[in-house]
Amino acid sequence: MADPKGFLTTPRQEWPRRPVEERARDWDEVYVPGGLLPIISEQADRCMDCGVPFCHEACPLGNLIPEWNDLVSREDWRAAAERLHATNNFPEFTGRLCPAPCEAGCVLAINQPAVTIKNVECAVADKAWEEGFAVPAPPDRLSGRTVAVIGSGPTGLAAAQQLTRAGHTVAVYERDDRIGGLMRYGIPAFKMEKHHLERRVEQMRAEGTRFRTSTTVGRDVDAAELRSRYDAVVIATGATAWRELPVPGRDLAGIHQAMEYLPLANRVCEGDLERSPLSAEGRHVVIVGGGDTGADCLGTAVRERAASVTQLDIYRKPGSERDEENEPWPTYPKLYRLSAAHEEAGALRTAPAARADARLFAASTLRFEGDEEGRVRGLRLVEVDAERRPVPGTERTLPADLVLLALGFSGPDQGDGIIGQLGLGLEPRGTIARGPDFATNVPGVFAAGDAGRGQSLIVWAIAEGRAVAASVDRFLTGGTSRLPAPIGPYDRPMTV
Ligand SMILES: Cc1cc2nc3c(=O)[nH]c(=O)nc-3n(C[C@H](O)[C@H](O)[C@H](O)COP(=O)(O)OP(=O)(O)OC[C@H]3O[C@@H](n4cnc5c(N)ncnc54)[C@H](O)[C@@H]3O)c2cc1C
Ligand code: SF4
Repeated sequence: MADPKGFLTTPRQEWPRRPVEERARDWDEVYVPGGLLPIISEQADRCMDCGVPFCHEACPLGNLIPEWNDLVSREDWRAAAERLHATNNFPEFTGRLCPAPCEAGCVLAINQPAVTIKNVECAVADKAWEEGFAVPAPPDRLSGRTVAVIGSGPTGLAAAQQLTRAGHTVAVYERDDRIGGLMRYGIPAFKMEKHHLERRVEQMRAEGTRFRTSTTVGRDVDAAELRSRYDAVVIATGATAWRELPVPGRDLAGIHQAMEYLPLANRVCEGDLERSPLSAEGRHVVIVGGGDTGADCLGTAVRERAASVTQLDIYRKPGSERDEENEPWPTYPKLYRLSAAHEEAGALRTAPAARADARLFAASTLRFEGDEEGRVRGLRLVEVDAERRPVPGTERTLPADLVLLALGFSGPDQGDGIIGQLGLGLEPRGTIARGPDFATNVPGVFAAGDAGRGQSLIVWAIAEGRAVAASVDRFLTGGTSRLPAPIGPYDRPMTV
């Protein structure tokens, strides 16, 4: 570190967001362009270069955080980019989208605000592209072995890049018309603009990875036939089977799943549609579900100019301080966090039914109410206590003519037929069963990412992609692999 006292003299400063009124009128990323570089070296200098860096421990990728903090504090961008890419194929994705368990585990966070690790990562990743350090790295020679990767989310992309660079011939099969998985049609552009995806796909193409879009394995190509054509198959199809809300009135028109709504808005940004058929414009929107997917719906509805937007969370409002008893440092605590979308909704006062930031906590949906034409017009809710028991006298109806269900996902979508065609074993909760090396019960078939782990995070998906690549490489070469395996399939985030 350039200044060993940086953590004592420099306060934490984050990448500033653009003014709400400005950013709510467009779909660009919420941050001030160019606002990170002037502050980031000083911020990286806050790192204490701990002997036992818990930041590194808290990151499933094992990112070499103190090393690149030091390099950034000295403005050695080339070396920082090299160290960053040593453990993470796509740091510009995690630098924008990761909830940063590393910062929750930062030693400085014990009694001060953590180092802005995620911002440092993003600055290095963007600088690497700007300066031309992120060049294609094709293999020196080909192994003659072939791999089919099913799914082009962060898991499939990381696995494909690692295996291609190891010399195997890799084809990625994707049912959508564009590459990227949930980063393409789930996550809105205001969180990550899609050109970051395009750039990586181009890099991967130049390295030799092949992409087959608009191809649903199981329907367009039989999965067993695919297995017979390739030496190995990696299933990285995600966990997109959504949870339902079986309350009276669910079948009224105007009630949709978040993942029916978000892809259409993303397609408007891609230029495929002029207007989303489910646009929130002028409508009273209620989002059921207090998680990040719900927040993505909120930011999208704000940009579509909804008449009002309210987000319901069944949990009680979390505190703004860590619960030292149940979620001590260095675990990732459940805290009251104000995402960009909540900040927008609060500033624009989109939710007359809620007090501050569009969220109603401890709220449970009782039923939907409709009009004579079968369209939803209201949502009847009740407040609940910590045991989710209704609090008497708290029932009320919110106006709602667009309801978005963001209740999470139960496991892989089984409608494509892959599981039956290959005869894959499943875990009781519906994810694909796999052994300690990510291998399924079918020889040569591996499962990784949300498809095996259940709904998770991009950083875990990239870690799974890298780890499954190491296992596939070992399987193909019949020996050892030089590819890194940062996690095993049963590793989980740190808890007490
Ligand atoms: C709305 C939303 C917002 C999120 N925001 C964040 C965030 O901000 N930060 C974060 O860390 N995580 C976020 N997540 C979670 C994160 O996106 C996932 O954990 C991650 O994308 C999982 O990666 P994956 O590659 O395993 O699966 P996915 O990203 O789901 O990719 C699977 C791919 O497989 C394809 N596929 C499926 N079946 C077939 C088939 N039969 N044939 C061919 N292709 C197939 C799918 O079309 C898809 O492209 C979010 C999730 C959602 C739903
Ligand atoms: S835990 Fe925090 S202070 Fe310590 S090395 Fe990691 S980033 Fe630096």
